[in-house]
Amino acid sequence: MAKQTRISLAEMARQSGTMLRRGDSAHFDPALGLQPTLADLTESLFFSPGDGRIWLNDQRMLLWHSSAMGHLRRELIDTLGMARARGLLTRAGYVSGARDAQLVRERWPNSDAAAVFMAGTRLHAIEGVVKVTPVSFDFDIDRGTYEGEFLWEHSSEDDEHISAYGLGTEAACWSQVGYATGYVTSLFGQLVVFREIECRSMGASVCRVIGRHAAAWGDVSEDLRYLQAHDYRSLAETAPAAPAVRPLPLPRPEPGERHEIVGASSAFNSACHQLDRVARTQATVLFTGESGVGKEAFARRLHRVSARVDKPFIAVNCAAIPETLIESELFGVERGAFTGATTSRAGRFERADGGTLFLDEIGTLSLVSQGKLLRALQEGEIERVGGSRTLRVDVRVVAATNVDLQAQVREGRFREDLFFRLNVYPIHLPPLRERRDDIPLLMNHFLRREAQRHGRQTTGFTPRAVRAMLHYAFPGNIRELQNLVERGIISAEDGAAIDVPHLFRREQLSEEALLAIGAHGGLTTQRDKPAGGLLAELQQGRGDEPLTLNGIEQQLLQEALAAAQGNVAAAARQLGLSRAQMAYRLQRAGQEAPREPARRKPRRG
Ligand code: ZN
Repeated sequence: MAKQTRISLAEMARQSGTMLRRGDSAHFDPALGLQPTLADLTESLFFSPGDGRIWLNDQRMLLWHSSAMGHLRRELIDTLGMARARGLLTRAGYVSGARDAQLVRERWPNSDAAAVFMAGTRLHAIEGVVKVTPVSFDFDIDRGTYEGEFLWEHSSEDDEHISAYGLGTEAACWSQVGYATGYVTSLFGQLVVFREIECRSMGASVCRVIGRHAAAWGDVSEDLRYLQAHDYRSLAETAPAAPAVRPLPLPRPEPGERHEIVGASSAFNSACHQLDRVARTQATVLFTGESGVGKEAFARRLHRVSARVDKPFIAVNCAAIPETLIESELFGVERGAFTGATTSRAGRFERADGGTLFLDEIGTLSLVSQGKLLRALQEGEIERVGGSRTLRVDVRVVAATNVDLQAQVREGRFREDLFFRLNVYPIHLPPLRERRDDIPLLMNHFLRREAQRHGRQTTGFTPRAVRAMLHYAFPGNIRELQNLVERGIISAEDGAAIDVPHLFRREQLSEEALLAIGAHGGLTTQRDKPAGGLLAELQQGRGDEPLTLNGIEQQLLQEALAAAQGNVAAAARQLGLSRAQMAYRLQRAGQEAPREPARRKPRRG
């Protein structure tokens, strides 16, 4: 496949000038409901306790004790000193802010600029760090100006700092300053430095922070002291470099090949690490794992990073070739060996000479073929079918199986000596449900690729689509995820986001619910509304029982009555009816409205 330049949706939006050019707080009116609203953002946060994960859209989050953070903070200060601890916390905050900026930028690429900047203050609050109230902000990216002033209330960092050290003369909201700097800098594309000029740890009732373009501050060397990691190399990539800074690069797979492998989870990294370690040797490698986990992609990657990269990579799916043909496919055939063998032909072993031969589903080979394969592995020699000449081949065999070869050995269906020969360096590729952290990455990867392939422009996934994907079991693993995304891209309208019905048929989705934040801040069971609207929702779970308007009315009346503990007037108010209307409707269904002795006026006599 030809290499093509890919740009993210957010970048496209930015290039077309629809995003983040300029804005100010005076023109930001929460009543306009510009996206992302507070509800949009809280909807992105959901809990998957059965899975041990919390998600903010596609980022894994942690819920941990503020006091534990305070403990860590105090130990950092005690062991490293105030300045270095402050640097570490500022940079950690920066990473967090930059991540949130990335989330908002990717999820709402076409949103109003001021609303996107506001989203950072709201996320900081949703995450429980601090309540942020903007005093004013004003920015113009083309002119390179940013000026913002914010009040911070209930700062969690101040709580911890004050409880450990009491009041002092220095501001203490270090990681929060890092967050603000990371968030705004990532969106703005240039270094915007925040300073806390009043702080609760200094005795102020609220903290006050000011953000300004680095150039407008003049000397920012003191700020950069904390933002730049001098002695912590891994953080250096994410901390900004003075004076101008590029937006945090979006995680993006390398363009090009169809068989690239994508992931960031620990399970994925561990497999990659094993692969890189063995690639440069000549060892036979056996990939194990379920169907669709990407065994061939890993085998190709192994070949690419091996010394054999300039020689052929030949892949054979042993299960796809009839047993009668597999030997001639692998080892070649001499003319006249059997009916139909009219010419001599090289097999895959010969064609892979000097390179890598990938044998997928090796467990399906017959015992005879297994014997020949063993000889090829042991002696480096093969014989064509019907031939008498011995041919020397230099082939590295990489095999893969989705069955338990050891069990096959016990059952006498797989040669034990061949198993040991293949099993020199086994690499297990985990199923997707065990590397869920990679799902968002893979979704975005296939979204870009398939959108380009099909010439579609989608704006990404809706939050409930992300939720459904994160919760899905993926029995078909990465291949299934790819197919789902492709289906989603084809079914969704151009210019719209991919939603649950574009991806799944309803029966595919698990009934087990996720938890999300309800209207009053508590966790509620998140049952996504069926795509068909209210009607489909009402019909859900009724089976064949017909749905009638009268039936729904009666159900509503009875539920309201029960909720009002039999008080007809109160129940009527709930449904927007007068007491008389309610009573009439109840009677119409052949039911007497219950009497309400307490409310009945005594009859005058
Ligand atoms: Zn503070």
